[in-house]
Amino acid sequence: MTFEEFDVVVVGGGPAGSTLAALTAMRGHNVLVLEKEHFPRYQIGESLLPSTVHGICRLLGLTEELAEAGFPVKRGGTFRWGARPEPWTFSFSVSPHISGPTSFAYQVERSRFDELMLKNARRKGAEVREGCAVTALIEGEEGRAAGVRYTDADGAEHEVRAQFVVDASGNRSRLYSKVGGERKYSDFFRSLALFGYFEGGKRLPAPNSGNILSVAFDSGWFWYIPLSPTLTSVGAVVRREMAEKIQGDREKALAALIAECPLISEYLADATRVTSGQYGELRIRKDYSYHQTSFWRPGMILIGDAACFVDPVFSSGVHLATYSGLLAARSINSVLSGDLDEKVALTEYEARYRREYGVFYEFLVSFYEMHRDEDSYFWQAKKVTRNNHTEIESFVDLVGGVSSGEQVLTSSTTGRLRSRSAEFAAAVEEVAVSDDGNMVPMFKSTVVKQVMAEGGQVQMRAMLGEDAEPEVPLFPGGLVASPDGLSWLPYRPA
Ligand code: FAD
Repeated sequence: MTFEEFDVVVVGGGPAGSTLAALTAMRGHNVLVLEKEHFPRYQIGESLLPSTVHGICRLLGLTEELAEAGFPVKRGGTFRWGARPEPWTFSFSVSPHISGPTSFAYQVERSRFDELMLKNARRKGAEVREGCAVTALIEGEEGRAAGVRYTDADGAEHEVRAQFVVDASGNRSRLYSKVGGERKYSDFFRSLALFGYFEGGKRLPAPNSGNILSVAFDSGWFWYIPLSPTLTSVGAVVRREMAEKIQGDREKALAALIAECPLISEYLADATRVTSGQYGELRIRKDYSYHQTSFWRPGMILIGDAACFVDPVFSSGVHLATYSGLLAARSINSVLSGDLDEKVALTEYEARYRREYGVFYEFLVSFYEMHRDEDSYFWQAKKVTRNNHTEIESFVDLVGGVSSGEQVLTSSTTGRLRSRSAEFAAAVEEVAVSDDGNMVPMFKSTVVKQVMAEGGQVQMRAMLGEDAEPEVPLFPGGLVASPDGLSWLPYRPA
């Protein structure tokens, strides 16, 4: 057994872990990343949002490398969803927060994207050890986490002590439970995804050929993500009760789901399924919406999927992972420099991450509510009903507790969600029938405005750096980002 000491030990080298590792190493801290796999490794979650590309990746110094990687450019999303039988398109370019040259994202093969992010963390000064699986948390004195034990690729055991243990190990490791509280699974979003890869699928007409295509159908919805001119990621999200059917013969199950959905059938008419290499397997993921009731305890922080995850329909996973990596890095940097008390810095972290998660949660509830199909079990279960009222209410309270008091304007949560969803559906309709495809009404709807706001801020700060307008706190008595974006400062009004 070897014993070492670092300032920060990060468990997991996915987008959350590599963001945090780079941004703490950039402030000169001694950072170790322990990653169980050897990169490049497979991961799902290929459709990005602009805030990751132009906000976090810019702060990380990855803009050029990403542009040179040749990932398909995603101008937005095209949806066959809601009342309208024809597909409609949502492009980032009309958002008041992100218009101009930063109004796009990429569709990425995660094996390549995650490797690029992890290599960057190494370049910024973090020590990265692959093939090293963390097996336990080391408890310190007075309830403080003090480090981790891990096993390296040769099976040797090691102990690392650190002032902060960051769990960025995604949705599968068990380490998160050591933070205390519990992981609560969402009943509303309870679904299951069956996915694979195809060569030779059709593309949307230019200039939207790099868009994600999301298609609602009786049993759920499909994603269709172009990863290269010929490779496409295709997944069906269906109700959880279908798990058994799908376990048997995945090939048949996916073919049957595709046959149920005319648009996806048409797009895949001349395509063949990839059956070898990292994309050869048909995979299943289930129960993928949850949140931990605490995101930190003294000496330990959860980021990315280790803390929470909400349904993939609007491609928010990597945004939430990298954004939480940035927020937690600011908190750690502020504590290690002696500028802020741990409780103050980590309370800011948790409040901001919960708020962002909650804003997406609410947007996605509205998004599902917008699609109506009276005869479908899947779509009936996705309605804001009396049965899921309490669960949704508790989430919205969670957002309300940390954001503006706007929530109290309408009497009930379900009523408010319904009206926001109707407002969003009306905006979609207005855009769809307009001659010029002007998207402003969509960006004016409350849920879309909320969901784009914080990502837009992150982009703005990353672009303008010290020239950015001084921030105001998100919460009364809260903190603001430092001019370089890497730590927190107390708010001092001019
Ligand atoms: P991960 O990417 O899971 O990285 C965690 C890392 O920790 C892994 O590399 C793992 O090997 C390592 N690790 C685990 N245990 C240990 C251990 N004990 N010791 C050391 N290392 C360990 N997101 C999007 O943005 N766009 C999408 O289109 C999208 N689609 C999705 C579709 C589905 C069906 C699902 C389920 C998710 C989707 N997501 C999407 C979400 C996305 O996959 C995740 O949110 C994102 O990968 C989270 O990043 P992370 O860094 O928190 O975790």
